[in-house]
Amino acid sequence: MHLGSEADLHRRFRTGRPCLDLVHTGGDGGMAQFEIAHTPDDLGRLLGRILGLPPLEADDADLVAARRLRGAITRIAYDVAGGSLPPVPVDARRPGDEDLVNAAAAAPPLVPALLPDGGRAVVAPTVTAALSTLARDAIDLFAGPLVARIRVCAAENCGLLLVDTTRAGARRWCSMEVCGNRAKVRAHRAGA
Ligand SMILES: [Zn+2]
Repeated sequence: MHLGSEADLHRRFRTGRPCLDLVHTGGDGGMAQFEIAHTPDDLGRLLGRILGLPPLEADDADLVAARRLRGAITRIAYDVAGGSLPPVPVDARRPGDEDLVNAAAAAPPLVPALLPDGGRAVVAPTVTAALSTLARDAIDLFAGPLVARIRVCAAENCGLLLVDTTRAGARRWCSMEVCGNRAKVRAHRAGA
């Protein structure tokens, strides 16, 4: 699957939580090989995709800020998903990661607007506002009951995060279509 292709984005951005979708745009260390936010334009396009907006205008400072926030959310997410480890090394949670999230959340978030036709729009979206919205989503997730349902996909070589919102709490794969089926086929071939 070509990095950044439509199929790739579809696979990355399906956690149901925009803050975790941001994690899936790449990162440092072992995550660098999955990077798709290389330029400010990439960032603007990806943030729009994650948040259901047209591409946002972004500059170099936005890219630095987005990567800083992404790093903190990444480290916290894989830390709380403890027990299910990603196939590549992810940096350990650091003191101050919460401060990075809180600082981004302190900026005004995206402002929704109701349109006369019943539709919805966002008023003058900026990257700073988008990062605030993502940081607030992270705070809701990490400080809420679903924190215990954050996991790393059980498929080998996947490493994507998921939030198990099923009643039984037995979800193991980021997607049934990709990783779930692959695991089933492998188990079938192994005679399991
Ligand atoms: Zn997976």
